[in-house]
Amino acid sequence: MLPWFESLYAQLISRYLSKKLHHGLLFSGAKGIGKYSLALALSNTLLCKQPSSQGPCEQCQSCRLRLAGNHPDFHILESEKQLGVDKIREGIAKLAGTAQMGGNKVLLLPQADSMTEAAANALLKTLEEPTNNTFLILITDRINKLMPTILSRCEKHALPLPSVSDSLNYLTRNGVEEASESLLAAYGHAPLRVEEALRGEDELTYRTFVEGMQALLAGDVDSQPYTLANKWQDNASQVASWCQKMAHDDYVKLQQPRDYSRYKASIEAVKTLQHAGVNKSMVLFGLLKQFQH
Ligand SMILES: [Zn+2]
Repeated sequence: MLPWFESLYAQLISRYLSKKLHHGLLFSGAKGIGKYSLALALSNTLLCKQPSSQGPCEQCQSCRLRLAGNHPDFHILESEKQLGVDKIREGIAKLAGTAQMGGNKVLLLPQADSMTEAAANALLKTLEEPTNNTFLILITDRINKLMPTILSRCEKHALPLPSVSDSLNYLTRNGVEEASESLLAAYGHAPLRVEEALRGEDELTYRTFVEGMQALLAGDVDSQPYTLANKWQDNASQVASWCQKMAHDDYVKLQQPRDYSRYKASIEAVKTLQHAGVNKSMVLFGLLKQFQH
């Protein structure tokens, strides 16, 4: 278990063991803090035939099926884009009968906020009158996109960001040698986002961004605003918010008006980039020009 969720996890298990766990749980919080890992671990415990306060036994038939990836009473509902009503109905139908393994049935929604309104309405009934031995675990990083009726029928857990020291320990232990507070801040203090970004090969990493910006500031001919804006346009929002952070940190350090106007320009760019259909490369070009000497 992720160290920062250990006590919550223990508390949820203990409530389950004393039959006091709510059947509808909602984990909300920032992207990249490990909500999904927590939900999976809890699901594993709920499915286990002989769970203890430590979690699942990993040995019973139920655990073995789950470890093999084909537990008949465990269902994950996700979709690339929106989670439609058909998919929800399909998931609910699977909860209708008795559990095939004779234990609990668990339905996990890793991105509950992607439900359409019709889908959410279809799920409501199950949240209100769940079938026996059923647990629904909803996860979201955009809780304001969930319908109030859904929220009111779940036991809500707002998961905070892990502390800087917990995050840095975690990253160092997982082989991220350059783990630092500023790297962590570049990814919204979400340690799993740092890990993912450094492992992913295609996505623009913070390190590449910093190198590009240093080259831009140094006047490198291969790192002109136009080139960088084209190269980074698919990650435009991320780049603009990194520019904002960079300008902010520089301003705090050096108190130069130049950094303040860069900071303000970055905030504007972040806002502009929220609109659909905007020319991202153009917006970035305008912003990066401000970072030229
Ligand atoms: Zn077990």
